[in-house]
Amino acid sequence: GPALRSRSGSEQPAGVLKEGWLERGAVIGAGAAGLAAARELRDEGHDVTVLEQSPYVGGVWRYDPRTETGDLLGANPDRSRVHSSMYEKLRTNLPRELMSFVDFPFDAAFLGPRYSSDPRRFCGHAEVLGYLDAFADYFELRALVRTRTRVLSVQLAEEAAAEGAAAAAAAAGPEDRCQHLKQQQQEAAGKAATEPLSPRFGFVVTSEWLGPDGGSNIAEHAAAATASPSRDRSQGHGDGQEAVSNDRDGGEKPQAARLRNQQQQELYDAVVVCNGHYSEPRLPQVRGMYGSGGSSPCDRGFPGEQLHSHNYRSAEKLRGKVVLVVGASNSGEDISRELSAGGAARVLLSAWSWKNEAWAADTAPYGPGSNIYRFPMVSELHADGSATFTDGRREGPIDAVIYCTGYRYSFPFLRGSAAAAARVEDNCVGPLWLHMLPPGPLAPGLSFIGLPWKVVPFPQFQMQSKLIARLLSGRVPLPSHDQMEADIAVHFEAMRAQQLPKRYTHMQGQQQFKYNDLLARCCGPDVEPLPWWRAELNRIVGMQRRERPDDYRDAELADAGSEAAAALSAAYAD
Ligand code: FAD
Repeated sequence: GPALRSRSGSEQPAGVLKEGWLERGAVIGAGAAGLAAARELRDEGHDVTVLEQSPYVGGVWRYDPRTETGDLLGANPDRSRVHSSMYEKLRTNLPRELMSFVDFPFDAAFLGPRYSSDPRRFCGHAEVLGYLDAFADYFELRALVRTRTRVLSVQLAEEAAAEGAAAAAAAAGPEDRCQHLKQQQQEAAGKAATEPLSPRFGFVVTSEWLGPDGGSNIAEHAAAATASPSRDRSQGHGDGQEAVSNDRDGGEKPQAARLRNQQQQELYDAVVVCNGHYSEPRLPQVRGMYGSGGSSPCDRGFPGEQLHSHNYRSAEKLRGKVVLVVGASNSGEDISRELSAGGAARVLLSAWSWKNEAWAADTAPYGPGSNIYRFPMVSELHADGSATFTDGRREGPIDAVIYCTGYRYSFPFLRGSAAAAARVEDNCVGPLWLHMLPPGPLAPGLSFIGLPWKVVPFPQFQMQSKLIARLLSGRVPLPSHDQMEADIAVHFEAMRAQQLPKRYTHMQGQQQFKYNDLLARCCGPDVEPLPWWRAELNRIVGMQRRERPDDYRDAELADAGSEAAAALSAAYAD
């Protein structure tokens, strides 16, 4: 078919602001959430800059063959970082029809060979990246993205100014300091008398440009970059010590003339945080996993290799080994099957408490022809290489342990009241109104896209972004702080009624569709809610995944019954 072009059909990225300039907004991250946010904010008339640490758009979908160095468990805060958690053979766990953004088909024929090479319904990671690349090109979003730019801090302008003044005063001599403070007090008094505090605050965003070969801990894949349609515009700029412009052919947001690793501070009216939450490993406390720290041979810790699934790339290195996989959610289920098929000697799959006891007590191989065996949670790792489980069984020796135990929310760049508004406690951020906004004076200036989990993310990112864009422009009024607090209280009350612990605050499952509808209603009558078939298809796929975890990806979805066939045909009619 004809090559996919930009929405406007122009060769030049638009990046044109509508009349009625509204807010200058920074979007942190150019993954799927950041791209959706950039589009909605730009289309609402805001002036958007997306700050992205890697050289690319697509976030976690850009496979990085490297692992972190120094600590494969991800427990050491000083380890080298790799953003992506994709493994080589990962296939999506949702059908592409369902994953798609609402108005941009995830369809191989629509995307064409430039962006698509894997038409399977449950495709590999490269196909999803191609889709996000196509989305960025079609909606002319690259013009808004400043790549290789890592956000180091986000701070309320007032707090940054106060900090600056305090630092200046501390640096000054005692007499100067006295003068300085007096002047500050006078200024503050004058300001209070003449200018009431604005309900909108500015944010100082400090970022670091990583140089033309930067995104230093995000692998530079020559092969991937040339094979993919991603426009990598800044290679070949010498050693990066000279001033560099990234927009030589208008493809990316102009870079200020900067030196590598030079920091820059900018003022934004609004900051939309889209930094993803699948990069910081969450680890269980298992006795013996770090060793006892003693020096006698009896004090040695578990001798085998240990890693988090964030650092798992392929089964190759574990051929012939006995591997304990901790956690049997999506990654644990998939990785244990991959290890078994890839020649591991034996795979022990240890599940958290949510898998029922009968599941863990079943001693038959898990899945046809597999050598996976089921266990309850591991309780201790021993120096002789064995492991004890909560039912008292002891197995070993075990060569390697892979923790598929999920990820933590992390916003290391937030400072002061912005950090306080997004405090993370037991996997709960905030609390936030609609999982997006702190219920206080920082809203709507500081917002978060993409926090809910167990969801179909892309269309939800769009709905969230539409609402944030409209709240920022004032087209949709922000509820009062009391109202936001009351709504949050209702959410926690509902969780208490279902006896859900705090760490499930952002877990949605089938609830996501009600939430998406609510977002659409908040946006106003011109925003259509997501069509019915999305909830239906999600329900059916979930069922199929539970019932036939071995082959749900390759089984015909329509085999799941006439309801699945109806949902699919509605998807294509849409
Ligand atoms: P990300 O894709 O992580 O993007 C965040 C971006 O922010 C990155 O580009 C990062 O470099 C940038 N960034 C972070 N910090 C900074 C900073 N300080 N300064 C500048 N830039 C920064 N979803 C599905 O729909 N289907 C699936 O089958 C599926 N499978 C998955 C399998 C795995 C193993 C994982 C980890 C996730 C999977 N997901 C799946 C969920 C996936 O995370 C979402 O689809 C989506 O890509 C998340 O997008 P995001 O933009 O929120 O985050």
